[in-house]
Amino acid sequence: MTQTPQPVRGTQSLIGEEADRFHAVVAAFDRVRRLYGFKRVEMPVIEPTAVFARTMGETTDVVSKEMYSFEDRSGDSITLRPEFTAGICRAYLSEGWQRFAPLKVATHGPAFRYERPQKGRFRQFHQLDAEVIGSAEPAADVELLAFGAQLLEELGLSGVRLKLNTLGDAASRDAWRAQLVEHFSAHRAELSEDSQARLDKNPLRILDSKDPRDRPFADSAPPMVLSAEAEDFFGQVRSGLDAAGVAYEIAPHLVRGLDYYRHTAFEFVTDQLGAQGTVIAGGRYDGLIEQLGGPHTPAVGWAAGIERLAMLIDAPEAEKLDVAVVVEDDRARTAAWFALGLVRKAGLSAEVVSTGSIRKRYDRALKKGPSVIVVLGKLDRGGLSVGIRELGPLTLVDVLGGVKWPSLDES
Ligand code: ATP
Ligand code: MG
Repeated sequence: MTQTPQPVRGTQSLIGEEADRFHAVVAAFDRVRRLYGFKRVEMPVIEPTAVFARTMGETTDVVSKEMYSFEDRSGDSITLRPEFTAGICRAYLSEGWQRFAPLKVATHGPAFRYERPQKGRFRQFHQLDAEVIGSAEPAADVELLAFGAQLLEELGLSGVRLKLNTLGDAASRDAWRAQLVEHFSAHRAELSEDSQARLDKNPLRILDSKDPRDRPFADSAPPMVLSAEAEDFFGQVRSGLDAAGVAYEIAPHLVRGLDYYRHTAFEFVTDQLGAQGTVIAGGRYDGLIEQLGGPHTPAVGWAAGIERLAMLIDAPEAEKLDVAVVVEDDRARTAAWFALGLVRKAGLSAEVVSTGSIRKRYDRALKKGPSVIVVLGKLDRGGLSVGIRELGPLTLVDVLGGVKWPSLDES
């Protein structure tokens, strides 16, 4: 016996309401994207491994443990994208998208991380992504955050909070890092094993550790001292958000997992998804494009988890069938194709039932929940008869009234 293949761990195949939810999130994103003037882009799923290794930071979880990397047949190291940002920046340089600067782009699709699958966490997951590249203005941060907030509103999600922080400019961030190392080193032995390792590699990450052993030291850590310039930038972002009517909370310990963030860092979070409560996350990454060998290019962006948003929204209305065509006389099958063509070209959905006992045909047609049933073929003085039974608010007179029907099939 051959065994039936199973799905790859951490992947999902969706149908019915789950597929509808997923689509509803993407559709809302596409509507709001347009309102904010973000250009649609399509990106490759695979990139040279260096695109992520050089930008996301060798010491981050994503690069050190989560990437799906492989050698292709010509020996090149390829990685399935774990996020969009780095690939979009690669394209900004390699595809000459610099000519569009400041460039506002949006895209969505699968991303891959080798993580432990659980609720809201998959190995193939899907992101919505929005980036503004080539703008050093706090206005770009404000617009992007307003976009995120409006997307959540459009999705009917009210229980999501925006947590906002600044990581300062490079100088204030480096000074803070040194202070944090000093602070945490004094308690090294009391920290969790993970945070002891973070202390050497990525001390900022200890601040958002969820381990109760780390919390007291994270909560008592010294706050960042901002340079005047960083202070001013953050002030402008905040007043912009106030003016745009976007509510936020300042979260002084919010840090992002990737090395490339500067200035604004933020997360939209909910309490409804347990530990997987971050639905949109992002920030400003002014150094990333330089790490790819490009010129200094300030940028800001966010990514959202489609699966997490899809779990939070109300169930979307199932797609409704407008017209079911029931072929009562088998000789009317050609007429059925004719009718289906007319109805569908008029922009109404239609399906045909033409097999099984007559009774079954009606049962199956009714099960589809159509607004109208068109009955074909009940012979009427040797010709085709067309019966229209309206079950819902739809009338078909405009579509099927007064048309010349084809003759019945010879049987
Ligand atoms: P988390 O802290 O939940 O691991 P992250 O900081 O690794 O998130 P980002 O790299 O900021 O996540 O990705 C942006 C968004 O993509 C997240 O806020 C989340 O909604 C979603 N996301 C990230 N990883 C996964 C995953 N493995 N499965 C499902 N969604 C994910
Ligand atoms: Mg993660």
